[in-house]
Amino acid sequence: MRTIGLIGGMSWESTAEYYRLLNEFTRDRLGGLHSARCVLYSVDFAEVERLQVQGRWREAGELLAAAARSLEAAGAEMVLICTNTMHIVAGQVEAAVSVPLLHLADATAAAVRAAGVRRVGLLGTAFTMEQDFYRGRLADAGLDVRVPDPGARALVHRVIYEELCLGVVREESRLAYQQVIRDLVTAGAEGVILGCTEIELLIGAQDSPVPVFPTARLHAEAAVRAALAG
Ligand code: GLU
Repeated sequence: MRTIGLIGGMSWESTAEYYRLLNEFTRDRLGGLHSARCVLYSVDFAEVERLQVQGRWREAGELLAAAARSLEAAGAEMVLICTNTMHIVAGQVEAAVSVPLLHLADATAAAVRAAGVRRVGLLGTAFTMEQDFYRGRLADAGLDVRVPDPGARALVHRVIYEELCLGVVREESRLAYQQVIRDLVTAGAEGVILGCTEIELLIGAQDSPVPVFPTARLHAEAAVRAALAG
């Protein structure tokens, strides 16, 4: 079993899920008392969020690159950035280490394609929904990506930072997200990517008329597959 390195804390609410999922998938695959061999570097999210808001991506990238180097020094044989948004700096992180970076958009695209979905809605932070680093990678994998209109994007973004990253799960926000999902489906989406690792704390398959793709779960699953391969 290879050692999985996690750059987490963005937010810790979803990193805790990663940890649980890695261990559950490993137990399911190997049985008995097996659990995931992993190393976690958990950042202070307030620091990262401040850099995001100020558009200081290079500095944010340096912070995560340093975390990746620490993980490699601690024995990690692959690195995961446990947030969709911070894949903005995936290149900087990848360049900082000699072990592979397991890109979240690749794990997601593979699952969407395996489900036979091509036209897919994307929910996430404004950075993820509006910039090219994630959408472009999904498009390169052959997916036709749709995002909500500007008003709905602002709502989805606000709920992530003001509620889900603080561990607050509100029924009112679930209903609002359900409406955003229905609108994406009306606009042609055959599936919806929960492209922020906290959204799956709020939304599940039961909240959507089309399949949803929970990215923390898909990423953790891909990591265990890689850790146990060959
Ligand atoms: N966890 C979130 C994501 O997957 C958002 C928090 C962040 O800005 O990193 O995008």
